[in-house]
Amino acid sequence: MNYDYIIVGAGMGGLSAGLNLAFNHKKVLILEKNSLPGGFVTTFKRGRFEFDTSLYDLMDYGRDNHVGSLQRLFKKYNIELDPLLIPYNIRIKSLDDNFEEVIKGEIDDWVLRLEEMQSGSMSTFRSLLPVLKEIHEALNALRKNRKNIEKDFPNFIKYLDKNAYEALLDLNIPDKTIHVLGYIWIEIGSPLNKLSFIDFAECMYKYIFKRPVALTEKSIDLSLKLAKRYEELGGKIHYRSCVSEIKDIDGKKEVILTDGTTYKAKEVICNLSERYVFKNLIKENHSFANQKENARTLSMNGLVIYLGLNKSYQDLKLYNYRYYQFQNLNSATNIKSMKKFSHHTIEAIVPNIVNESCSPKNTTILVLKTLYMSDVWNNVNKTNYYQTKEMLANELIEEFENAFNIDIKEYIEEMEIATPFTFEKYTNSINGNIFGYMRLGYDNSIHRLISYEEERIPHLSFVGSSSLFGSGVDNAFYSGYYITEKLLEEERRND
Ligand SMILES: Cc1cc2nc3c(=O)[nH]c(=O)nc-3n(C[C@H](O)[C@H](O)[C@H](O)COP(=O)(O)OP(=O)(O)OC[C@H]3O[C@@H](n4cnc5c(N)ncnc54)[C@H](O)[C@@H]3O)c2cc1C
Repeated sequence: MNYDYIIVGAGMGGLSAGLNLAFNHKKVLILEKNSLPGGFVTTFKRGRFEFDTSLYDLMDYGRDNHVGSLQRLFKKYNIELDPLLIPYNIRIKSLDDNFEEVIKGEIDDWVLRLEEMQSGSMSTFRSLLPVLKEIHEALNALRKNRKNIEKDFPNFIKYLDKNAYEALLDLNIPDKTIHVLGYIWIEIGSPLNKLSFIDFAECMYKYIFKRPVALTEKSIDLSLKLAKRYEELGGKIHYRSCVSEIKDIDGKKEVILTDGTTYKAKEVICNLSERYVFKNLIKENHSFANQKENARTLSMNGLVIYLGLNKSYQDLKLYNYRYYQFQNLNSATNIKSMKKFSHHTIEAIVPNIVNESCSPKNTTILVLKTLYMSDVWNNVNKTNYYQTKEMLANELIEEFENAFNIDIKEYIEEMEIATPFTFEKYTNSINGNIFGYMRLGYDNSIHRLISYEEERIPHLSFVGSSSLFGSGVDNAFYSGYYITEKLLEEERRND
């Protein structure tokens, strides 16, 4: 069976790549090992609760006059969504510094609160906003291969090789404000002093101007909607089709499933990390890929506790969409603490705050998440797995209760604990890694973008959170579009 393109995996990156290729009338096949599309973006049921596994805020969807890339692409493919704006409200607690804040309301309220916390914050925070906008526009220009970047976007050039901490100091942002801003991006996995300012600025721009949204529908419905549209456009998708090998035969790629079925295509697009593909699917020795692998750092994995509580969020006093508990105000110390089990970094999400109907009446869904560096779970094996995950879940629930003075234990009706092993089993992400490769030092999105052509492996592409733009549904989806646009361009050039 011959195709123009074969895509391995129907996660956000794979579905997006498929949509763009099918939209452009290419003969394309997606092979997905599970029986449903979406990868991480899925849903599971326990009792009367239906939990979203991973999608709590959709960045880069946008609103009004700040339309994001996701919205633009969904419109192009005629996919409708019903987004709900997530309030900026976050409640933060830092244990060592005895620091507790609820940052509420719109950005103007933030600015006022930051000023109360540290005088001088207001004017400098305001002066940061046009810089974020300029960097965002420069990135868009770069993605479109526009020339004259240095002339049109001087701040982009000025801060290109600065880390976020250096740049924020240079912009005179007071220390405490820097730390508060740093909290939000801890998921990127790099402390502010190692994270490129350009990556930081782009995340911040999306957060402030486009604003994150949640969905009224369950995550699996989004994934099914994308897969359905892809099929309407003529794309084929085979579920329960696990790829076990990718071969290069006379310049054509052969993709072989675990049951021996073989497909051929001129290009294979993997919705997987290079590390997984070269370790498990490509049997030939490929020294270039190994070199690249060695240079990249896997980001974090995590333990996620999904709780169905039999009380309303108002009665539980869970008034904020998002809660963060950290050990310390310093992002580097927090990241360091993720190298062991006994740490205190917790993110909690209460989806009912934006979508009351996400769980039955008078109940609440609470998701607690803690992150680990990718190898912390290496010492966990069959004999201590269940004991370890139960122990950590109990510790986390207790810490959350103590930190925010909220009782949840006695209202737990359903509980599911997902470990890195759970995520690895479902998606094949290495070590259950959630956020692709870290954007550290020179391995930032700019470097990845600029070196794309040079690093490209002929007829083998990568989309998703391990690709150019980093993790998150928005970046994974955008990568599927961006990479396939490049491939279509290449096709046109060769015609
Ligand atoms: C707890 C949690 C919370 C999160 N919260 C958010 C959030 O609020 N907002 C946000 O934007 N992001 C969030 N993320 C991250 C986001 O979910 C991911 O970055 C994104 O969904 C990854 O998409 P991907 O394209 O990389 O593909 P993946 O989801 O990794 O999909 C890969 C697909 O490939 C398939 N596959 C793997 N191996 C094979 C094979 N050999 N053959 C065939 N198929 C194969 C898998 O089954 C899977 O369907 C969260 C993640 C987690 C775990």
